[in-house]
Formats: sequence, C-alpha cells, structure tokens
Amino acid sequence: MSESKRSYHPQTNLVHAGTNRSPFGETSEALYLTQGFVYDSAEAAEARFKGEEPGFIYSRYSNPTVDMFEKRMCALEGAEDARATASGMAAVSSALLCQLKAGDHLVAARQLFGSCRWVAETLLPRFGVECTLVDGTKNDEWAAAVRGNTRVFFLESPTNPTLALVDIAAVAEIARAKGITVVVDNVFATPMYQKPLELGAHVVVYSATKHIDGQGRCLGGVVLSSKDWIDENLHDFFRHTGPSLSPFNAWTLLKGLETLPLRVRQQSESAAVIADYLANHPAVSQVIYPSRDDHPQADLAKRQMKGGSTMVCFDLKAGKKGAFAFENALELIRISNNLGDAKSLITHPSTTTHKNLTEEARMEQSITPGTVRLSVGIEHAEDLLADIEGALKAI
Ligand SMILES: *Cc1c(COP(=O)(O)O)cnc(C)c1O
Repeated sequence: MSESKRSYHPQTNLVHAGTNRSPFGETSEALYLTQGFVYDSAEAAEARFKGEEPGFIYSRYSNPTVDMFEKRMCALEGAEDARATASGMAAVSSALLCQLKAGDHLVAARQLFGSCRWVAETLLPRFGVECTLVDGTKNDEWAAAVRGNTRVFFLESPTNPTLALVDIAAVAEIARAKGITVVVDNVFATPMYQKPLELGAHVVVYSATKHIDGQGRCLGGVVLSSKDWIDENLHDFFRHTGPSLSPFNAWTLLKGLETLPLRVRQQSESAAVIADYLANHPAVSQVIYPSRDDHPQADLAKRQMKGGSTMVCFDLKAGKKGAFAFENALELIRISNNLGDAKSLITHPSTTTHKNLTEEARMEQSITPGTVRLSVGIEHAEDLLADIEGALKAI
C-alpha cells in the first residue's frame, strides 16, 4: 500500500500505512521480538553498516515492528521521518537535548506538562542551556524573549489542564524569521485535530501513552520532523543514548492507531455534550472547551484545530472542598492523572499534577482549587452525564 499513488484519508492510513508483511503474509502486523539481526555474509554485514544495503542492525537503532509504527505515524502527521521512543518524556527530552548545547537559549511556554517544564526549567540549565518561560498565549512575549543565541521554541496547545491555546502559526512565524526551531507537544490536540507541521512548526512530539494507545496498556512516544532535521539532530543522539521503544509496545500502539479516529471522535462528541451541560450548571463557575463559543480564544480554536477536544476543564464554585466531594461521589468516572483513555478519568490538578507549582504559578495559569480536569472516554454519553449530574448534587 505504501507504493500506491493514491492518497488515503487518515482513517485508512491508520489501518494500513507502514505495514511490512513477512513472507507468511500475516493479516495483522508481526511482532518482532529481537534485539539483533544476522547477516548472510561478512560482506553483507559490512554493506549494512556502511548504509549501502537496507536492513536492520540492532533494535536500539530500529526494529521492523517499531518501523511500522514510525511509518504509520509519519503518514498520519504528514511528516517525512520519525523516531519512536519508550515514553512521551523520552520523546520530549530527546527532541530538545539532541539539538541544544551549552550556550544556547530555549524559550518555552510556562503552560507545560509538569515533566516538560522540569526538563526546560531545571534539567537544561544544568548543561548550560538558558531557558526563558513566557506566557505562551501572548505572541509578543515570544518575540520579546528572543536573543541572539535562541535556538528553540517549545510549547503545547491546548495546554494542560486549562486548555488555553498557543497560536502555533504566529509563534512559528516569529521563529522562522530568526532561524529558530519550533517543537510542539501535540498530545492534548491529538494528531486527529491539529497538524503543527502544517502550521509552520518543525518538530512534533507525542506521548503515545495517551490517545494513541488510549486503552491504558503501555507507555510510548514519538518525535516527527523532516528527514533533514532528524538526520542532522536526532539520528545519532537516538542511536547512542537509547530512548528506543520496545517492539511489543510498538505493536500495541499500532493496534491503537487503527481505532484512534473512532475513539477520538466519540470522546470529543461526548466531551462537547458534557461541556454544554456543565456550562449551564449552577455549581460550575466556568467551563473551558476549545470548540465552545465562550472559549477565551474561540477564533483561534476554529483556525488551528479541526475539532474540539477529548478534555473538558471546569471550575467548581465550592473550591477544593467541592471538587473533592464531586470526585468522591462519581461512580463511573475514575480518579486518575492519566488522560486520553477509553475510560473517563477525573483529575484535581492543584493537588496532583500541578501540586509542585507555587500557588502564584498556578494562578498564572488560572488553575484554582476548584479547577477539575475531565478526560472523556468512550462510554455512552448519557451514562457519563448521569454520573456527573449525580456527583454534582453531592457538593
Ligand atoms: C503525558 C504527557 C507527556 C509525557 O508522556 P509520558 O508518556 O507519560 O512520558 C508529555 N506531554 C504531555 C502534554 C502529556 O500529556
């Protein structure tokens, strides 16, 4: 199928793209649990190491099952090349470390997933990379933070947990003029609803642990970009530091990709219904959902995203006490810090995922004691609504 000249919709590519069948002609993707590969002759080994003959050398570099996952992700993202990693954080840290060196400067949005912020703010400066955090939603802050040695912009959109948006095209425009590489963590948007490369970003990273697996089974990640960027920056770094994805997890993620569009569509449809319900509930002071007209950046959401979100963020008037009473009264929706799963999950950011931020830093991102983050699963929307309705009565 990769040889066909026809171009297919994402739904089709996600079932077929990258499939590389063994001589047995298996229907499903084969799982190659092997560390290494054998060669027919010393000459063949030499040719493969020289790169004169195609083929695999060692599973830290690449593996047939992992390769299928990378190719399928490339087809989905519209990227030339990719490297699959053991986790989302392996993807993020590799994408940043591979291109930065002492004396370079990084500008990152302060609205980052906690571990991403730690890499930018704490880890990189240890190696002499300066880091400036900006309010990612303000384009002029990106422009003002640029220095002569700025090499990379790093952001996520929508942000976790308050679903604020960064104008990726505008930020990429500022970067392009200065030769700065833009890295986008696209987990919250999912590859179905936002295409950072089309918006001008250079590198996209995912935690495949989230929607791509989407069924709570394994960790994984992926870095996608142009062939040139990967060859020049990531190729050697990846081979010699070893953040590689296990073939077993790659196989699981390939199965996840087959149903990604179905799951994300169902999750987003239900999330939109739940967001509308919450917006009219007296216990709720604010609902943030990207495709609602009252999202603070509704126009930008329409411009850069093809759909809403599987996530809903809302504020309970009764603060922490109310949020805890609500979470504890839920019967179907489970308390967890994970997201993008088939099962609906609820999080209280200020006491869990964002507890390490200072009160002031939380306020900068509008995370209040009453803020609740809901990751909507694939259960029937009516059952989810009934659960939420019942739990809101407990406040
Ligand atoms: C979960 C997540 C990560 C980290 O992914 P892991 O697979 O848990 O390592 C990075 N960025 C965002 C936005 C995430 O949600």
